Amino acid sequence: QQAGRAPAVGDEAAPSGDELLRVDGIGIGYRKPDGSLRTVVDDVSFTVARGEVVGIVGESGSGKSQTAFAILGLLPDDAEIVSGSIEFDGTRTLAEGQTKVDQSIVRTLRGKRIAYIPQEPMSNLDPNFTVGHQLVRPLQVTKRMTKAAARARALELLAMVGIKDPQRTFDAYPHEISGGMAQRVLIAGAVAGEPDLIIADEPTTALDVTVQAEVLDVLRDLQHRLGMGMVLVTHNFGVVADIADRVVVMQAGRVVETGSVRSVLREPEHPYTQMLLGSML
Ligand code: ADP
Ligand code: MG
Repeated sequence: QQAGRAPAVGDEAAPSGDELLRVDGIGIGYRKPDGSLRTVVDDVSFTVARGEVVGIVGESGSGKSQTAFAILGLLPDDAEIVSGSIEFDGTRTLAEGQTKVDQSIVRTLRGKRIAYIPQEPMSNLDPNFTVGHQLVRPLQVTKRMTKAAARARALELLAMVGIKDPQRTFDAYPHEISGGMAQRVLIAGAVAGEPDLIIADEPTTALDVTVQAEVLDVLRDLQHRLGMGMVLVTHNFGVVADIADRVVVMQAGRVVETGSVRSVLREPEHPYTQMLLGSML
């Protein structure tokens, strides 16, 4: 569906009006004990158009999650925004000169218009409640559904993420399901609110290798069907090659290369990108 888009190498600007997310020169730092600042994200910029999948790729520690957290308003309290701004669908969530993401704005966006799929599915499910309960409650609250309607929708969502026996998973407690199943449940929860943007941070990294491909298929399939924008964070270029339209390569907090997945795969310009691609083969 994104075949019509023809991004040039090194392009960034999505057509305006079509633009969903703009991360503009964002810088994030933490104070060291001696009071000096350690910059962990440095001047990072990229955009996501409606329905577009942008992969953020880089090795562990390159600042991918910190960038994702800035968009989600999930940075820890001691994080300092040292530069830049973030705009979601025309609303500034983080302005220049502001040291914190505007939590009131991001909280109302998150869950409704921006959904988050984290790396650790189990630690993001409440062990005290059934899977069904954890899907039904948000639907009742954010979509104002009746309990019966929310139940029906939750079962439908579980089927959509490829769960063969939705009722059984619905009735299960988190400890009774596998990690791959739990990640499917979180994906179901993320799309339940019909968000415009999904931020998935290493959504398959914690899973067994055989399960990774299945969960990735589910994610790609849903993205195609529902057409939401997605920021897919991963250390694995293979993951991005399969799903993303464009890629942002990060190294040590900085963007070293951006472009369409096709062009970057074919002709990686930066040595770091070449190295990442080399380790994929
Ligand atoms: P990635 O997701 O690419 O593996 P992160 O965004 O998690 O990398 O981390 C980028 C850098 O920020 C790392 O060097 C990490 O140690 C540092 N960092 C992350 N969280 C904090 C924190 N709360 N305080 C200080 N440094 C942090
Ligand atoms: Mg990370």
